Amino acid sequence: MSAIDQEVAGYYDKLLKRNAGEPEFHQAVAEVLESLKIVLEKDPHYADYGLIERLCEPERQIIFRVPWMDDNNEVRVNRGFRVQFNSALGPYKGGLRFHPSVNLGVIKFLGFEQIFKNSLTGLPIGGGKGGSDFDPKGRSEGEVMRFCQSFMTELWRHIGEYRDVPAGDIGVGGREVGFLFGQYRRLANQHESGVLTGKGLEWGGSLARTEATGFGCVYFTEEMMKANGESLDGAKVIVSGSGNVATYAIQKAQELGATVVGFSDSSGWVETPNGVDVELLRDVKEKRRERVSTYVEEAQGTTFHSDGSIWDLKADVALPCATQNELEAEHARTLVDNGVRYVAEGANMPSTPEAVEIFRSNKINFGPGKAANAGGVATSALEMQQNASRDSWTFDYTDQRLHGIMSNIFKLSAETAAEYGHEGDYIVGANIAGFKKVADAMLAQGVI
Ligand code: NDP
Repeated sequence: MSAIDQEVAGYYDKLLKRNAGEPEFHQAVAEVLESLKIVLEKDPHYADYGLIERLCEPERQIIFRVPWMDDNNEVRVNRGFRVQFNSALGPYKGGLRFHPSVNLGVIKFLGFEQIFKNSLTGLPIGGGKGGSDFDPKGRSEGEVMRFCQSFMTELWRHIGEYRDVPAGDIGVGGREVGFLFGQYRRLANQHESGVLTGKGLEWGGSLARTEATGFGCVYFTEEMMKANGESLDGAKVIVSGSGNVATYAIQKAQELGATVVGFSDSSGWVETPNGVDVELLRDVKEKRRERVSTYVEEAQGTTFHSDGSIWDLKADVALPCATQNELEAEHARTLVDNGVRYVAEGANMPSTPEAVEIFRSNKINFGPGKAANAGGVATSALEMQQNASRDSWTFDYTDQRLHGIMSNIFKLSAETAAEYGHEGDYIVGANIAGFKKVADAMLAQGVI
């Protein structure tokens, strides 16, 4: 073991002891530390002043009780979280997730990833994340509203335009952001539009924010393909999930000439050999809030599967856009055997470390989440710019800005990987490029 391997193993051991029982957080940190070994070989000063330990410790972690009344007048109690991880580059920025699987470790993994992702966008935003173990599925509109109001009744004192700006994530879409913003406005007694992003267009939202993560993931994929003289035109694409990110990844991939051959939700997956009817998908999932099997009942030539895996489909490109660790080693092996050549993560950490290793050893072009799905937060930062200048931009202008940001993230990841001797490894490139900007800011700002 080299001295640097030992030093980094020391940081990791300490982190495991101080953050017991948080496997997703350990996984996210382990991946970044692997890349940091490469930086420390060349630039050892990045280990000065406890920088790596400070980077892995959130600046602040807020955990709170969220009591609310269900439709039967019974009291329910959920747990709320906001992890304000790093504000060296700007106010904390990152979404809120409402899902029964949420716990402190999940929020810390997401907040940690967010630091590097936000840094890669080139915009002045720090990293944070929050959420609750509340499950909006099956809840009435009134229940969701009362939950959101109770959640914001605590959260509001911790956020602000220059402090911390939450947005949506799994289980938090336009409806929830509306209820959250309403309660913030009431408590703060001011219409501070810059306090949340993903808002409705009539009250400070940005055109193209809804589409941004999915579109951005496809723009990143396009860049990877362009680097090999290829394009999405005529390609077959698998997209897992059918929520916000998946829907707009499907739309953009098809606009660029690809056929999306399957999508999914937590109840199963749908085979769509002739492509996806995006309008119908949006109607079923966004408007009616039904399961993907309803889509199959209404779309000819499609098949619903409740067993097997969406990754059994044959495709050139795979875009995992549902949730963490949804793509495991056996899935990666099947994808590789079936000829996949590009994988870009629309979701956060959807591929397990073993799956990533299989993609790497088979030289699959791989866009890690912190680069490939940064379009959402980047467009949130563009929403903040519009709010600050009391302006609203057109869809095309905002989409062009998003496209430019995604091309830059690809370029930066590719160039940094090459500079550090790992050409084509966009994981290494994204981790190092994201890290250096935050690290330089932290070093300049002293030990805080
Ligand atoms: P949504 O809630 O809109 O959609 C999530 C989708 O993933 C749904 O189809 C859902 O199925 C499926 N899903 C969620 N959990 C599971 C699970 N445990 N097993 C199988 N399927 C599951 O969320 P988003 O589209 O906003 O987010 C998807 C991913 O993208 C997340 O990893 C998120 O962190 C990431 N992301 C989102 C951004 C955004 O702007 N929204 C920005 C950057 C990253 P079902 O409906 O059955 O639950």
